[in-house]
Amino acid sequence: MTLVNDAAPEVRSTGRKFRAFTAKHLDELTARAGLSPEEQLATRAVATVLPFRTNAYVLEELIDWTAAPDDPIYRLVFPQPDMLPAEDVAVLSDLLCREAPKAEVEAAANRVRMKLNPHPAGQMELNIPSFGDGKVPGLQHKYDETVLYFPKQGQTCHAYCTYCFRWAQFIGEPDLKMAGDDSHQLRDYVAAHPEVTSVLITGGDAMIMGESVLRRYLEPLLELEQLESIRIGTKSLAYWPQKFVTDPDADDMLRLFEQIVESGKNLAFMAHFSHPRELEPLVLTEAVRRIRDTGAVIRTQAPLIRSINDDPKIWETMWRTQTRMGMVPYYMFVERDTGPQDYFAVPLAEAYEIFRNAYKNVSGLSRTVRGPSMSATPGKVCVDGVLDLFGERVFQLHFIQCRDAELVNKPFFAKYDPAAIWLDDLKPAFADRFPWQ
Ligand SMILES: *Cc1c(COP(=O)(O)O)cnc(C)c1O
Repeated sequence: MTLVNDAAPEVRSTGRKFRAFTAKHLDELTARAGLSPEEQLATRAVATVLPFRTNAYVLEELIDWTAAPDDPIYRLVFPQPDMLPAEDVAVLSDLLCREAPKAEVEAAANRVRMKLNPHPAGQMELNIPSFGDGKVPGLQHKYDETVLYFPKQGQTCHAYCTYCFRWAQFIGEPDLKMAGDDSHQLRDYVAAHPEVTSVLITGGDAMIMGESVLRRYLEPLLELEQLESIRIGTKSLAYWPQKFVTDPDADDMLRLFEQIVESGKNLAFMAHFSHPRELEPLVLTEAVRRIRDTGAVIRTQAPLIRSINDDPKIWETMWRTQTRMGMVPYYMFVERDTGPQDYFAVPLAEAYEIFRNAYKNVSGLSRTVRGPSMSATPGKVCVDGVLDLFGERVFQLHFIQCRDAELVNKPFFAKYDPAAIWLDDLKPAFADRFPWQ
């Protein structure tokens, strides 16, 4: 395996066949980042718990190896030695060090995973509806107008983000997985629920699928008059833009997009960009142009992550560049309460300041973005501000989305707490409970 490629940048991985790198390549890669043998071992220990996968494009075009391991894109894809509690890392490192049997390592890793709240916000218990003679696998219906679908073949990504809130999807534990493989069941469910106007295909990454598989899921939906939009949640533009430019089925994929637009529905790409560097490569510019040429709209979203993008300048640059390229900024999320949340969390008060300081500098065309938004059990909650009212410092918040649609867009208050990082940390202000309680 050669990781150091001497070819000119423009003929490197760009336009080449997709190639994945996994945990078995970690030692070679972390050595390139200059980690000590102990740090390399700890990195492998963390990777027994949290999934690791990246690809040649991310390694050669996005990461700045001269800045690794502090480089934000390196931190975005590589597990960090201190991402899990030190005592857990020590136990796992020890098992790896003495080459313990695979089953023993896996059992220890699993014990650590269970402490990490693998399915936050009641996803498994609250959102999966019953229909016909049972639950619909891979389908979530939380807000009236939108159904989420997790196709079985879309439950991986071109590379994994270290902060991923869906990390439990990737570790082969069937109990922790959401996935469906019956496109007609999806169509039938939507047809039986006339309030549904939008289907969001997500994962993992819907764009890991080939054109013929994605077509099997999407084509049956086109005949449904009630559907106004089909959304595709994806990080592929950041991690593998070749999908839309040079992959063997790139042109077929674009024709599928055209067909959806021609059927009279809005095809929205919900593109995940975490850092402005992901917007720089020429192949990305070309992918954006080709997708937009089909009539699809690209909307952008990402969580705010400590040590990766916790700076208003970064968000300002992302929103400006995206708007310039014809993409529409959509959400800034608060990192969810799962996985190594302590490692990546930005307190709500700070998140609000970062959002405001970026938002105030961009034109109205970029102010389509909303946030910072917490996708929590009762709904999506936006932090609107910090103010002093009646002698008390409070957060003002509102629901962008709520299980109870009546509460959407009505302000409510919580006591100011500079350390709060999630909705659960907040206490109601001027009331003895929150509106949804
Ligand atoms: C965010 C989200 C949606 C979509 O909400 P929009 O405000 O329409 O983008 C739908 N379902 C779930 C479960 C969500 O978290």
